[in-house]
Amino acid sequence: MSDLLSRLINENLIPLKPYESARRLYSGGQDWLNANESPFANDYSVDSSSFNRYPSCQPNAVVDGYAGYAGVATEQLIVTRGADEGIELLIRTFCTPGKDNILICPPTYGMYAISAETCDVGVKKVPLNQDFSLNVNAICDEDDVNLIFICSPNNPTGTRADVNDVEKVLSHFKDRALVVMDEAYIEFDSDGSWADKLAQYPNLVVLRTLSKAFGLAGLRCGFTLASAEIIQSLLKVIAPYPIPEPVAQIAAQALNKEGLARVALQVETLNSHRQALKEALAARSGITLVGDTTANFVLFRFEQSQALMSFLVENGMLIRDQSKQLNLQNCLRATVGNEEQNARLLTLIDSFLEQTGVSA
Ligand SMILES: *Cc1c(COP(=O)(O)O)cnc(C)c1O
Repeated sequence: MSDLLSRLINENLIPLKPYESARRLYSGGQDWLNANESPFANDYSVDSSSFNRYPSCQPNAVVDGYAGYAGVATEQLIVTRGADEGIELLIRTFCTPGKDNILICPPTYGMYAISAETCDVGVKKVPLNQDFSLNVNAICDEDDVNLIFICSPNNPTGTRADVNDVEKVLSHFKDRALVVMDEAYIEFDSDGSWADKLAQYPNLVVLRTLSKAFGLAGLRCGFTLASAEIIQSLLKVIAPYPIPEPVAQIAAQALNKEGLARVALQVETLNSHRQALKEALAARSGITLVGDTTANFVLFRFEQSQALMSFLVENGMLIRDQSKQLNLQNCLRATVGNEEQNARLLTLIDSFLEQTGVSA
């Protein structure tokens, strides 16, 4: 970095590196099973007649559509540029830089820590137990945290947080911290949502997205659900025009009756593919399933994970290496794709096993 920039840059950013998103790591390849995207690309239309105008901050059609879908009041919801923006808004709104902390439970989604670090907010880590359940006692021992992020279904373990555990955390931190349930994958585990408990727990926040089951990762549209009071605080911090007009139009279509019916069908299809992929992987020699499969991906352990990963990449098949995450040595995560992609993944794994003589 030039002298000028090293003198100017926000000091706490110096050790940070740009996020290694699935898309940044590998831009080539033909089968993308590395970012938990939907294999379905649905059709939408866009009306450009008002593109000369600034968009609404919180477009009504999207707010109404999602509130109806999630079963919350429109005052209990804010639309953001993906759930990632929701994470950052929560941190910027409820944590003071250089002073406050968030709590995360690794192995889990990377953006909580990254957003906190870029905002100079501390990150306290209470690892999940060996079976990936929450270590409730250790979480409740942390007294100096403002936000607690719990991902359920958890990325990358695919496990659902136990209801009683979450209730204990919500109650313990009732007057002290907000508990953020990240439900990015909730459509694949539909009876696991906390959205209907907002009235019961004023310190509960729920994150949602159109990036996974809705098949709209490219749209960048997410939602934060919480009490009207929490939402009002987030509205102080969000940009004046955070949702581009084409995004609002497409999100509204995704949330209409036909859109919702289509997502329900696609989730059903993916859940049945997931079951098939899970069984097929478990039947391969040397492969053990890890965690659970309540989302649209399967996590597995394989001794030669690095060699397998390179072999798959060479063949244009991209899955995600999770081996650097806490307690996930030699673990790889494969998103459930369409039938052809899942079949190709299995065929390639078989070729690798044959080639290395570990064949089943
Ligand atoms: C993908 C993902 C998100 C981010 O969703 P966007 O709406 O695309 O920003 C948030 N949380 C988890 C756990 C995810 O896996």
